[in-house]
Amino acid sequence: MADESMAELPEREAMDYDVVVVGAGPAGLAVAIRLKQLDADISVVVLEKGSEVGAHILSGAVVDPVGLDALLPGWRDEPDTFQRTEVTDDRFLYLTEAKALGLPAFGMPKILSNHGNFIVSLGDVCRWLGAKAEALGVEIYPGFAANEVLFGEDGAVVGVATGDMGVNRDGTPSPNFTRGMELRGKYTIFAEGARGQLSKALIQKFALHEGREPQKYGLGLKELWRVAPEKHKPGLVQHSFGWPLDDRTGGGSFLYHYGDNLVAVGFVVHLNYENPYLSPFEEFQRFKQHPSVRPTLEGGQRLSYGARAITEGGFQSVPKLAFPGGALVGCAAGFVNVPRIKGSHNAVLTGKLAAEHICEALKAGRAHDELSSYEAAWRDGPVGADLRPVRNVKPLWSKYGTRLGVMLGGAAMWAEQLGLKLFGTLPHGKPDYAATKPASECQRIAYPKPDGVVSFDRLSSVFLSNTNHEEHQPVHLRVKDMSLQKSSEHDVYAGLSQRYCPAGVYEWLEEGAEPKYQINAQNCVHCKTCDIKDPNQNIVWVAPEGGGGPNYSGM
Ligand SMILES: Cc1cc2nc3c(=O)[nH]c(=O)nc-3n(C[C@H](O)[C@H](O)[C@H](O)COP(=O)(O)OP(=O)(O)OC[C@H]3O[C@@H](n4cnc5c(N)ncnc54)[C@H](O)[C@@H]3O)c2cc1C
Ligand code: SF4
Repeated sequence: MADESMAELPEREAMDYDVVVVGAGPAGLAVAIRLKQLDADISVVVLEKGSEVGAHILSGAVVDPVGLDALLPGWRDEPDTFQRTEVTDDRFLYLTEAKALGLPAFGMPKILSNHGNFIVSLGDVCRWLGAKAEALGVEIYPGFAANEVLFGEDGAVVGVATGDMGVNRDGTPSPNFTRGMELRGKYTIFAEGARGQLSKALIQKFALHEGREPQKYGLGLKELWRVAPEKHKPGLVQHSFGWPLDDRTGGGSFLYHYGDNLVAVGFVVHLNYENPYLSPFEEFQRFKQHPSVRPTLEGGQRLSYGARAITEGGFQSVPKLAFPGGALVGCAAGFVNVPRIKGSHNAVLTGKLAAEHICEALKAGRAHDELSSYEAAWRDGPVGADLRPVRNVKPLWSKYGTRLGVMLGGAAMWAEQLGLKLFGTLPHGKPDYAATKPASECQRIAYPKPDGVVSFDRLSSVFLSNTNHEEHQPVHLRVKDMSLQKSSEHDVYAGLSQRYCPAGVYEWLEEGAEPKYQINAQNCVHCKTCDIKDPNQNIVWVAPEGGGGPNYSGM
């Protein structure tokens, strides 16, 4: 809102807690649960921007149960958990346009094995964790986005504020205007997931990225299908790389058979792709036409669609985690193991670890200081042990392309397994937005039309994400400089936002003398790709009114 109108607004009400948690994903919920397990008297509040816990969670997901086993020992024997299917068959494929070449299981480093893992909906896991947290006395407020960090006089973080509700597009209060709330805590924990809005600002403010490699990202697109029973192979996990992406573009697919004839099919494109004509959404649609995929989906029903950024920087990109008054946990810091395509176990483990260090600090009567012991602990614990051996896979892939890079990455993982360090720790180099080349140096890509059987268009896809935003609110995709958007994003990079956005939010309308940038903010599925990939970092994603966004079910 404009500053003059802010001056006339009533004061925000404030509520005090021991610990404030932003985000009810696996990381945030693990923080809350562990704190209450350690001391039931610690007051904990969790804010979640989705309309309910799980509404904004999108993942594969094959889950390594190591996190849940550590947080909630005995969870497997409980009667009402979430639907899960144990992995029974684990395949890796290299795709050419017409063929699928299977990689032999004995060639795979042990760390990639999915033996003992479960196929689940991570959203459902979070719903279950949310109920566990509430039963322990945690206050969870879904439908409330934290959109401002509160600082004390000494510069330490002292809490967050939720956004005002009922603000008109022009920033003036509507008749339904409600002032946001301040939630103040002795410690505030940021568990916003990949490219968290407040986490990004804190990383900048406290220079948490200093001395680390830039964070890297992929865009993951996913559909949930119910397939014909005779095509369902419960427990089958299939990953691929190669076609339809060219050798210079990193990424791959997943196909997980689980539950009641369900298949989760997804595609990840590394966001350091160069060609601005590339469309991750269209690559995903094309991938489903492959002879190793299409027959499974044909005759089935597509139930859901969504997209979300995934962190890919790994070990060398994790920023400093602790700062005065708070810390980052889970994918807000980026704990995904890229070759395993898994991060939820490390989200739970870092949440649990942070909680243990917060509890110690509270017991010692501390508040608003730096949790430096948490910072020191992660690299030497199970999370460090999971990420360290795979740290060179992504840099090798980026540098040498898919065929050679993946082979070298495999060799690096084998070497680590045998106790050898082949490459030291390789850098990632530039951030993803800087990898994009001007359109004049790239080839246009002609994508096939959707067939309406296994491939679809963007708008009918977004419909299946049940995305909804209050339509009169200010646009939550902030373009800092519109003239730069025209002179660079449009003129130099051929309007790449029209292609990278998986929800059709951005359009350049080529009518009249000047093209017009149209932002269909109501379609946004909160994947955060625009905030990551805009070549000038000219688009800033800020949380819309709480409760807005996708309403995923089973994702
Ligand atoms: C396509 C894809 C496939 C994946 N496959 C797997 C897999 O098979 N196995 C695996 O283990 N991992 C997988 N991952 C990674 C895994 O999903 C993440 O590592 C994990 O979800 C991270 O948990 P988190 O709690 O840190 O963040 P998230 O799960 O992203 O949760 C963050 C939560 O915080 C909320 N939030 C964010 N900002 C705010 C705010 N300002 N105010 C209020 N609420 C906010 C969000 O709405 C969300 O609910 C995959 C990821 C993707 C994208
Ligand atoms: S507008 Fe940005 S965050 Fe929203 S769906 Fe498009 S790329 Fe993702």
